[in-house]
Amino acid sequence: MNIIVCIKQVPNTTDVRIDPATNTLIRDGVESVINPFDTYAIEEAARLKERCGGKVTAITMGPPQAESALKEAISLGCDEGILVSDRKFAGSDTWATSYTLAAAIRKITDFDVILCGKQASDGDTAQVGPGISAHLNIPQVTYVKRIVEISAGAAKVERMTEEGYDIVETPLPCLFTVVKEINTPRMPSFKGMMRAKSAKILKWTADDIEADPAALGLDGSPTRVVKIFTPEARKGGETLSGATDDVSKELVELLKDLVI
Ligand SMILES: Cc1cc2nc3c(=O)[nH]c(=O)nc-3n(C[C@H](O)[C@H](O)[C@H](O)COP(=O)(O)OP(=O)(O)OC[C@H]3O[C@@H](n4cnc5c(N)ncnc54)[C@H](O)[C@@H]3O)c2cc1C
Repeated sequence: MNIIVCIKQVPNTTDVRIDPATNTLIRDGVESVINPFDTYAIEEAARLKERCGGKVTAITMGPPQAESALKEAISLGCDEGILVSDRKFAGSDTWATSYTLAAAIRKITDFDVILCGKQASDGDTAQVGPGISAHLNIPQVTYVKRIVEISAGAAKVERMTEEGYDIVETPLPCLFTVVKEINTPRMPSFKGMMRAKSAKILKWTADDIEADPAALGLDGSPTRVVKIFTPEARKGGETLSGATDDVSKELVELLKDLVI
């Protein structure tokens, strides 16, 4: 079974800061880590390989320093890493990101399962996984919390919902986005760390993945970030107290003032 796991390198902070001039993330001086949700995708990929055999390929689109995320993924059980990196990808929105990743995955040709995290902790849209499956024209199951059965051509999974879970059967190849309830990620093993140290990361450019230049980066991104700002903190509410009739009358007057 050939498994691909998509990982994103993100700032190791919950205090994501935006450059007001460019509306992009300020990354300088912030340590980068694998998107926490993607560590569950890596773990599930490693478990699938232990269960069914095969190979796990980690892939990321990002700047050159994202290579360290791929090395870490190898220390956690992936067999190889592919860094999709080119200045032409700069400014990609989720459409262009998923287009680029899909083009790279198409180059891999032989795959059964693509695993993604539920969402990235910085961009937070949860659009890239479904976007990749749409570009590749393969089925997707989001919020997977358990892979119940998997064979060469089909899988049965549990998909988390607010009320409980759905049981979904799907043909393969298929893309799954996973939630943190799916497993407990392992720590890197000594053997894994040694393997990661000597691993050679493949580097693919826009030309290598035969992508349409018009679909890449800022020019290929239909989304425009017009303004990003922190909303003002809400003022505290007003509490009315007294007899119900009096409070109702007072409330009506207050609402009239607001509406009229
Ligand atoms: C107009 C515009 C310009 C932007 N410019 C930039 C920019 O210059 N630099 C920048 O860093 N961001 C930029 N962004 C943000 C960028 O589009 C998103 O960070 C990116 O598309 C991923 O979306 P997300 O973070 O919401 O990921 P989600 O959709 O929440 O991620 C879901 C899952 O998809 C996979 N995934 C997501 N991104 C990647 C990736 N890059 N490689 C591999 N797997 C991935 C992971 O498995 C992840 O768990 C821009 C966004 C817009 C709208």
